Amino acid sequence: MEFAGLKAIVTGGASGIGAATAKLLQERGADVAVLDLNPDQAAGVKAIRCDVSDDASVRRAVEEAAEQLGGIDVVVNNAGVGAQGTIEANDDDEWHRVFDINVLGMVRVSRAALPHLRRSGHAAIVNTCSVAATAGLPQRALYSATKGAVLSLTLAMAADHLQEGVRVNCVNPGTADTPWIGRLLSSAPDPAAERAALEARQPHGRLVSPEEVAAAIVYLASPLSGSTTGVDLAVDGGMQALRLRPRSAS
Ligand code: NAD
Repeated sequence: MEFAGLKAIVTGGASGIGAATAKLLQERGADVAVLDLNPDQAAGVKAIRCDVSDDASVRRAVEEAAEQLGGIDVVVNNAGVGAQGTIEANDDDEWHRVFDINVLGMVRVSRAALPHLRRSGHAAIVNTCSVAATAGLPQRALYSATKGAVLSLTLAMAADHLQEGVRVNCVNPGTADTPWIGRLLSSAPDPAAERAALEARQPHGRLVSPEEVAAAIVYLASPLSGSTTGVDLAVDGGMQALRLRPRSAS
């Protein structure tokens, strides 16, 4: 219960990794509000409508959350969208749209929450990045570029706000078993083969669970991690760091 008395907001908390994070933060004693485009989908947690691509919407939602919770100590910047293809696959409007949600969304939410975080004494921001920031994946040019920006942004923010008492870290999940990946698989020509390929890409031979990513986010957000800042924590079954021999040859 290390979060007892602390207040947390989780963007994109109505689904997948964000929903698992909101649930675990609550179980560890935090008072939590989810900020999501679809607050009606959130279960068992306060939910406020918010579009992270709209600054006015973000400011309204963050102030409403701070009022309802009585402050903000923890921000989990998790809302994000995907994009497929090489650099030729998406036009300028789509590049701007995805950067606007995945990168500027984190800027807007953090910017609006900073006055509250500075008053906290246990302030932490955790950004949901991706293995796509650190490994070259095929057909993910736009998405990977946004997550590379999230990684650099995490480091810059960690440097800027350390002396104000705000730690900033990120998690880099591998392919995680969320509704997002469910949608991706159902649009594939052979969903079972696509799932098998995604599982085989991760050395532990399966998809990451949203609960495993949530556990890493909660670890980084915890007041017990007071000396951890500017870190990217891989939760990818070894996808980034390990080079295994094929199972048959090992
Ligand atoms: P998801 O689609 O299950 O959930 C995403 C949530 O974000 C949804 O509730 C959606 O309503 C919300 N959202 C989308 N656009 C928004 C906006 N403009 N404003 C507010 N909320 C918005 O996805 P997920 O798989 O849980 O992904 C969550 C995060 O994890 C994303 O940042 C994603 O890039 C990252 N990630 C996912 C995987 C994976 O394999 N699932 C891997 C690495 C990183």
